[in-house]
Amino acid sequence: MTVTILTARLVRTMDDAVPTATAVAIRGDRILAVGTGEGLAATYPGAVVDGRYADAVLTPGFVEAHSHMGLGALLGPHYLGFFPRTAPDGAPRPGAQSFDEVLAALRAWDAELAPEEPLLAHGLDMLAHPGAALNRHVLDAVSTTRPILVVHQSLHVATANSALLEALGWHAGTDATGVVHGEDALPTGELHELVAMTPALEALGVHAFGGSTAAGMLDLAHDARNHGCTTATDLANTDLLRPGGLDTLLEVTARDDFPLRVVPATFGAPTRSAEEAAQVAALVASSQGSATSKLHLGTVKLMLDGSIQQFTARLQEPGYLGGEGPGVWSTDPDLFREQFHAFHAAGLNIHVHANGDEATELVLDAVEEALARTPRWNHRHTVTHSQLSTRAQYRRMAELGVCANIFSNHIWYWGDQHIDATVGPDRVLRMCAARTAIDAGVTIAFHCDTPVTPLDPLATASYAVERRTPTGRSWGEAEAVTVKEALEAITIGPAYQLKLDHLLGSIVPGKYADFAVLDLDPLVVAEPRELREIAVVGTVVGGAHFRAPAAGPAGPA
Ligand SMILES: [Zn+2]
Repeated sequence: MTVTILTARLVRTMDDAVPTATAVAIRGDRILAVGTGEGLAATYPGAVVDGRYADAVLTPGFVEAHSHMGLGALLGPHYLGFFPRTAPDGAPRPGAQSFDEVLAALRAWDAELAPEEPLLAHGLDMLAHPGAALNRHVLDAVSTTRPILVVHQSLHVATANSALLEALGWHAGTDATGVVHGEDALPTGELHELVAMTPALEALGVHAFGGSTAAGMLDLAHDARNHGCTTATDLANTDLLRPGGLDTLLEVTARDDFPLRVVPATFGAPTRSAEEAAQVAALVASSQGSATSKLHLGTVKLMLDGSIQQFTARLQEPGYLGGEGPGVWSTDPDLFREQFHAFHAAGLNIHVHANGDEATELVLDAVEEALARTPRWNHRHTVTHSQLSTRAQYRRMAELGVCANIFSNHIWYWGDQHIDATVGPDRVLRMCAARTAIDAGVTIAFHCDTPVTPLDPLATASYAVERRTPTGRSWGEAEAVTVKEALEAITIGPAYQLKLDHLLGSIVPGKYADFAVLDLDPLVVAEPRELREIAVVGTVVGGAHFRAPAAGPAGPA
């Protein structure tokens, strides 16, 4: 088998035994050796030297441990978010920085579209527009004939205009869960949760929650490539539960042009009893025999609460700043304990959505109970989001072998709202407590929850080091981590949580040849924000090269 020696300006292995190098030898899809170009050429005399990254820095490919695939249909060109983004093809999406800009964008798209086409917009965060309100009347001012649906950034709420409500047959007397009615008894246009959003999306011809499609998978994979990410989860996957779903995952991930390793976490939250959870658990466990190098099976996702910025997360005393709450159990706590034990007993790895500290507490109770009923030494159950987990809870996580996947993008995307509205200026100093977690001995990761916030692991890492909001306000330095720790939390940390750290997460012989190709060394930035300015040239996945569109065409290799 041919040996290729990939030379670089610098190789950051993220492995302390050999922390840096200037070349990596690759055989097949694996790393063969790490060293210098000359040294490796002497050891492997027949090797081909590839200097295409001679001016670049290689790091381990980034691992995104909380992302969502298959929502590509929701991520079309009509983006209304406050913060600019880039599309999977690299095209900029500027978003809208005021409510007037939101309305102007909707009017402009209405003018562009053919009369019979519906308008589906996404990414709107009403918290960025205090004082403004969106309802069917506001959208009717854009069009009374074209169905319009605006999916909010949280993905928990959408707003429809009257033409769409009409098409759905939702009137004054409609008693449909999630369809909000005003004082005049008419629907306001506000639709809550998937139960109401799914029919509205389907009326627009969008089947966003029906399972993975090649197009949706490629959207996530291309977005990942553009940001140095080579492995990502789909943290609420339903493919194993539907006929042909596993085949889609296998076919698409096997394509040579598919630049991503995927870890689908089967969505176990909708199971309604211990028996049903055990059936789904058996299905996931039996699927593990079908795993490939690019498709890793055996992870499950459960849900406990809502989100802090929408006051639906479950908080312990003293609760929300303005007395909102108590938040929502998205799964009944008793049912959750049963679900948790069923998936645990089947030997699976469980990631639980818990934003509030009351939800974290319940996860830890459930782990303790499950371990007492069914002892297991090999679980890496993970609290995902873990935004308000306390010092005492991190100590318990360490005792129980539980990991934390922290939503550090909140420091940036809702950082000011958390100071002003949700928990206040004192408790944000304890939010996303990565320093406490590491010091307690908990393995951490940082995540983006794309499409909720953009997939960009270097940016995600930067927020956890910097702990500043976009307006420059500090979240305190006591919970800051070092750049090295932050980089570990986007490489080997999530790899560990996903039980893939023997295969990826650092540049070590025997692991997959998965690299992020960067223009600068992320470990020597003068200011944490400079991590966000590092350009991604592309990725290497199992020795195959994938160039980011923003990097322009490749020069001669
Ligand atoms: Zn999520």
